[in-house]
Amino acid sequence: MENQIQITLPDGSIRTFPKGVSGLDIARSISEGLARNVLAAEVNGEVWDASRAIENDSTVKLLTWNDTDGKATFWHSSAHLLAEALEALYPGVKFGIGPAIETGFYYDVDLGDQKFSQEDFKKVEDKMLELARQKEVYARTPISKAEAIAYFEEKGDEYKLDLLKDLEDGKITFYSQGNFTDLCRGPHIPDTGFIKAAKILNVAGAYWRGNENNKMLTRIYGVTFPKQKELDEYLHLLEEAKKRDHRKLGKELELFTFSERVGQGLPLWLPKGAALRERLENFLRRAQVRAGYLPVVTPHIGSKQLYVTSGHYEKYGKDSFQPIHTPDEDEEFLLKPMNCPHHCEIYRSKPRSYRDLPVRFAEFGTVYRYEQSGELHGLTRVRGFTQDDAHIFCRPDQVEEEFMKVIDLVQYVFKALGFNEYSAQISLRDQEDRSKYIGSEENWDRAEQAIISSAAAKGLNTVIEYGEAAFYGPKLDFMVKDALGRKWQLGTIQVDYNLPERFDLEYTGADNKKYRPVMIHRAPFGSLERFVAILIESTAGNFPLWLSPEQLAVLPISEKYTDYANEIFLLLQEDDLRGYVDHRDEKIGKKIRDAEVSKTPFMLIVGEKEQAEGTVSVRKKGEGDLGSMPIGQFIALAKEEINKNLLKF
Ligand SMILES: [Zn+2]
Ligand SMILES: [Zn+2]
Repeated sequence: MENQIQITLPDGSIRTFPKGVSGLDIARSISEGLARNVLAAEVNGEVWDASRAIENDSTVKLLTWNDTDGKATFWHSSAHLLAEALEALYPGVKFGIGPAIETGFYYDVDLGDQKFSQEDFKKVEDKMLELARQKEVYARTPISKAEAIAYFEEKGDEYKLDLLKDLEDGKITFYSQGNFTDLCRGPHIPDTGFIKAAKILNVAGAYWRGNENNKMLTRIYGVTFPKQKELDEYLHLLEEAKKRDHRKLGKELELFTFSERVGQGLPLWLPKGAALRERLENFLRRAQVRAGYLPVVTPHIGSKQLYVTSGHYEKYGKDSFQPIHTPDEDEEFLLKPMNCPHHCEIYRSKPRSYRDLPVRFAEFGTVYRYEQSGELHGLTRVRGFTQDDAHIFCRPDQVEEEFMKVIDLVQYVFKALGFNEYSAQISLRDQEDRSKYIGSEENWDRAEQAIISSAAAKGLNTVIEYGEAAFYGPKLDFMVKDALGRKWQLGTIQVDYNLPERFDLEYTGADNKKYRPVMIHRAPFGSLERFVAILIESTAGNFPLWLSPEQLAVLPISEKYTDYANEIFLLLQEDDLRGYVDHRDEKIGKKIRDAEVSKTPFMLIVGEKEQAEGTVSVRKKGEGDLGSMPIGQFIALAKEEINKNLLKF
């Protein structure tokens, strides 16, 4: 039996194959259909070419387009196809690196004097598809370092020679498809025929090896798919995403702006944005009061020593805003990067007994963290932002109940904002190496169990990631999925054994002894800046009615009906509905279009008939004409829609 090996498949079944069997052979033994879809094989945890021979007993998972690693292999192989097409079209082109990225791939190339721009994209796409149709096999060849150097010296590609410098002889492989050979450790898909649709997306400059002293290469971004339909869908999503870009909509809806004079990464909230933000804050504030949180307020700066104690100085100190010095006393202050240390001091402000716990301190706390200017992005990466922060100090036996309550609160927030598809990631300790975690084994076990069982009790769709916990405690992160299928990380709940230790926090137990409380950090929105960005992108600016900056516009058909319009508007305001009367001397068509652009949910059109009957003609965004109705009926309709989202917590 020495020519036989045992292959363990993901379902746990063990099958015997001849030595040298490939992932593709295994797929064929299961079904031809599977074999046609296999892109690569995971062999003992490593991704291999599906055609590579397996010599020893192994655990094998066959990878298709539905696996992240399958897609990555597909896209990286497509980078080779792009390179082959470029070499055919641009003789003498030299190649840097060509990795897969989250969606698609790029290749950094040196085109010499040859130009490459948007007009050339189609030509390259066509060439890629022409080569793909030839079903060229990606052939793997182990090669000695000397031979590899000789090959690229002959070819004159200094970038590949530079890469070879760092590679160890005996571990070098070439991959060839058609007329193109690349230095690569793989893996790749079986042949180019799997690639049925290709699109060049973008071109940018990139320094070789990311070093600005090196030559600037041309980075060509592309994406490929196994079906044309999937590319079409992807391009449609890209278009939609562009339309929803929060930086674009934020400007159009007059929510926020940035000013060079104020400084990069420091958002300025315009009146409509500030109103939206205030409504979000008030909404959460009300729910938090009901959930037993106590509001606190702390300053925007804190003594450097505070952050040395908390450990944040070590983390943010030299890589963030530098300390502020007082002119006379030579004191040092830091801009607050985190609210937690301040809240620890509030906990310490008086003795606490086991009967007082839990205490929950909540603050919309603005924090400042340095981000490199190149990293800044609209409201999602900024230098100053406001967290909807809170810290719960509780006994170890209360962790589970507190987790349940926080999950309830987060779910309430998601429901009110229309996030219906979400999941949670639970981050626990590494299963083997437990040396890096602080806090007792007993408390960790208890907290991890508490998170798992509270998530289960609340029916959350969860994934558990071992080794993803912070050194100071396990956590649970919520991910929401928007209408375009994009995932965003939102609220987080984090257990912390570290800060209570560092701040020497205590409570007196029933036995009169001193104990350490457990600290839980939580922020359902994360930060208001990031949350508003996600809200804009996921709703395309069509906020739930309760949150809309302007819920309605009263549009008189002509000046003659101004008084009636004002009268109506007063009634609406009395019922806490907000909006405006469009008094401009414009045609009604223009008024309607402008209200549509600003995404106003309701338009109330008034003219002769409405005035005579004491009614309004209602148009609802996305639904069109609702006909004319008495004002009271409209108010009831609007209230019902508001209350649909805003049930009591
Ligand atoms: Zn490769
Ligand atoms: Zn915190």
